[in-house]
Amino acid sequence: MIYLDNSSTTKIDPEVLEAMLPYLQDEYGNPSSSHYTLAKNAKRAVEEAREKLASLINAKSEEIIFTAGASESNNFVIKGVSDYKKMYEKSGNHIITSKVEHKSVLQVCRFLNGEIYMNNEKKRLGKIITPQVDRGYEVDFLDVNEYGQVTLDTLESTIKDNTSLISLIWGNNEIGSLNDIATLSKLAKQRNITFHSDATQVLGKLTIDVDKISADYLSFSAHKLYGPKGVGAVYMRKPKRTPVDITSLIHGGYQENFYRAGTHAVHNIVGFGKAAEIAKRDLAKNIEKLEKLELQAKEMIKAKYPNVEFLGDPNNHIPGLIGMIIPGIVNEMFIKERCEDLAISAGSACGIGEPSYVINEIGYGNVSSSFVRLSLCKHNNMNDIHILLK
Ligand code: PMP
Repeated sequence: MIYLDNSSTTKIDPEVLEAMLPYLQDEYGNPSSSHYTLAKNAKRAVEEAREKLASLINAKSEEIIFTAGASESNNFVIKGVSDYKKMYEKSGNHIITSKVEHKSVLQVCRFLNGEIYMNNEKKRLGKIITPQVDRGYEVDFLDVNEYGQVTLDTLESTIKDNTSLISLIWGNNEIGSLNDIATLSKLAKQRNITFHSDATQVLGKLTIDVDKISADYLSFSAHKLYGPKGVGAVYMRKPKRTPVDITSLIHGGYQENFYRAGTHAVHNIVGFGKAAEIAKRDLAKNIEKLEKLELQAKEMIKAKYPNVEFLGDPNNHIPGLIGMIIPGIVNEMFIKERCEDLAISAGSACGIGEPSYVINEIGYGNVSSSFVRLSLCKHNNMNDIHILLK
């Protein structure tokens, strides 16, 4: 099997698995329990993982909150900040996001905007969605440029006196374009507006230094980083303007500083920590490898399919992510019929079966069924690309 769908998920690193196993076996203590050795070991393991993830993004360990994945992180930040600002600070109820966010941002924003959330998403397709109930929030979904990026002008012209939160994706999961988070978050800071970015696809793919951006919150997930599924994190900048400015996600015990109650999934958190440690150690090497492989792959694809069109910002994108239109193909059928031993994707795993809204927003709506995404990882090599082309 040639696996080229690493934006969807990655294979767990053997070093990560090795680090996790003791916490599924003999080290089964509950980190929140009393002061006996088993519990203390588990607590230490969780705190070490927190330090490792913090170190990857140049943050302090107390700025990391573990969650069950990036969807949860996005929900936590957007609902938590919005609720806190409206209910406690009385400081605004206007949220700004973009039209090309991951669904775990888009759907939360639609929910807050008052849309009735149906379980069967397909029922909503093609409908003009209007607010159904008044939850007390207003949301603006920003247009993007041809590469799927939000421009400073678009953001600036949408900010209002009651804007309380801006949430913009860092690296797009379908076409790889990067938003200029440093510049966009700086504007938010100047206007005293909380800024969140879904950084799920960029962790371990580019240098993240929280001192170089003004974001208050970032979302991450371990399984995009050769770590386990079911664990993610929120970076939460400290010191904050007020002692607390986000409502807890899960009310209950005191875990994760009261923000997310519930017994820690110690093995998963340890795995995330190890994955972050490895990502930091190998970052430069991995970036170089992915950039080179991507370039070669694109040249070879172009030679075979001269009409292919690569999407996204060629100069500012996630290394190794190739989103393209191959004229004439129908992606789902193409993948089903021709790619038995090859894992490539027709778009985001969270939107499978639907035409991609990202492709639509950047003006390729009429050919969205010819969209294919390859997402390379550190384990891929040129042989994989040769097999792909065959
Ligand atoms: N945001 C982005 C940009 C993603 O690519 C994904 C994964 N598809 C998520 C959020 C959700 O991550 P998780 O699977 O950990 O919930």
